[in-house]
Amino acid sequence: MDEPSRRLRRAAKQLIDTDRELGGDWLARGEPLPAGPTGEQEPPTPPAPARDAGEARRKAAELRAIDHDEVRQCTRCKLAGGRTNTVFGEGNPDADIVFVGEGPGAEEDKQGRPFVGRAGELLTKMIAAMGLDRQDVFICNVIKCRAPGNRAPAADEVEACWDYLLRQLRIIRPRVIVSLGNPATHALLNTTVGITRLRGQWQSLPMLDPDLAGTKVMPTFHPAFLLRSYNKDTRGKVWSDLQEVMRELGMPGASRRP
Ligand code: URA
Repeated sequence: MDEPSRRLRRAAKQLIDTDRELGGDWLARGEPLPAGPTGEQEPPTPPAPARDAGEARRKAAELRAIDHDEVRQCTRCKLAGGRTNTVFGEGNPDADIVFVGEGPGAEEDKQGRPFVGRAGELLTKMIAAMGLDRQDVFICNVIKCRAPGNRAPAADEVEACWDYLLRQLRIIRPRVIVSLGNPATHALLNTTVGITRLRGQWQSLPMLDPDLAGTKVMPTFHPAFLLRSYNKDTRGKVWSDLQEVMRELGMPGASRRP
């Protein structure tokens, strides 16, 4: 079995497993499962050119330097005093897709890794439903330290951390950023428009940065919100947003545009 078929199988299995574990269909009623190689799919897009291994190593080294030399020592805002670990982010330094959440929770603070608690489990399933592994994408947050009581990051905390996120994105240069929930979407798009209005529609980064000129942003609901409102409507919306990303990147398993 070739790699695209393996990914399709994995995606279909993941959808079924998610359904079983979380007590409902991941997909909205009427939404087809990812089609197999003979099913209804977008015509195949030529695969993206193979990424350069040297380039990936360079990016990994640049990211590591920011993490080790700066973020781990950071005292730019009051959150530094309450953290156990900073949470820089992890994944493929040369990824096409970067997922950006709001900030580490208790488990992330303990482990120093992003999205490893309950919301993280769901994010991992969402990524798997796209036919990908966590290592295929990059996962990070707007702020790198836990805010007390998991409250949303304050404006001064976002401001203090902003340069880290921007430099991460400049190094990775993803084709797509998936912003998860309001804080990430507001920070990236410099807007106060709510996620319910913005989700599912392609946005561009407002910064005039040549390194990020072509990067598109897909806002969607945060997995923690999805856990709280786990119904067909919210699941269907998130899946449709992820399908949009898959179509944009010509990924196998993307259904036709509705
Ligand atoms: N929520 C986030 O936004 N980020 C994490 O890393 C974990 C939970």
